[in-house]
Amino acid sequence: MSGPVPEVLVFDMDGVLVDVSRSYREAIRRTVERFTGRLPSHDEIQALKNRGGMNNDWDLSFALIRQSGAAPSYEEVVEEFQRIFWGRDGDGLILEERWIPQPGLLERLAARRRLAIFTGRLRQEAEHTLRRFAQGIGFDPLVAHEDVERTKPAPDGLLRIAAAFPGRTLWYLGDSVDDARSARSASVPFVGIAPPGHPRREELARLLEAEGAMAVLASVNQLEELLG
Ligand SMILES: [Mg+2]
Repeated sequence: MSGPVPEVLVFDMDGVLVDVSRSYREAIRRTVERFTGRLPSHDEIQALKNRGGMNNDWDLSFALIRQSGAAPSYEEVVEEFQRIFWGRDGDGLILEERWIPQPGLLERLAARRRLAIFTGRLRQEAEHTLRRFAQGIGFDPLVAHEDVERTKPAPDGLLRIAAAFPGRTLWYLGDSVDDARSARSASVPFVGIAPPGHPRREELARLLEAEGAMAVLASVNQLEELLG
């Protein structure tokens, strides 16, 4: 392990705490299909994600739709995406999410350190999923989409969390190039997550290392080994 031990662990949600392959990722695919008639592959989505600057799934869906020549407005794309992902009242694909941390992991980490979240999710969507899977785990602060002026790769969310813990060492755990860039801009050590079987896993791991990750893990469940 390089650098001082972290006193605050900051987690990205999607792909780190939550498997979103059947929720956000599927919502991208179905939104694109709705406007273009073609269902994009997971590989195609990851390829665009690995380029960075698209951590927001609305932007990513919009870009894929525009690439194909269709020309709906951004608002129409967002509305359709939300209808598919959120549904009427949290009853859309969000219910297909799976929680990644094994039972006990977060409780053990929280006994020795502070836990926080910096996510690109809307607050409502972050809290919905935390209520389902992480009752009793105190992530504080939770910085969501609405809480920052500039989204990732800007450092705003991490700087906000750092300001809540003056003089403490933070680590940020994320699974995208934009997460790594955000951490670097905020001068927060970064741990990358690139799960086996993930589309473009090797490319992602290489990119996270190139962006300064001190380690790239297969899962958040390996974090305790890294902390020693
Ligand atoms: Mg993520």
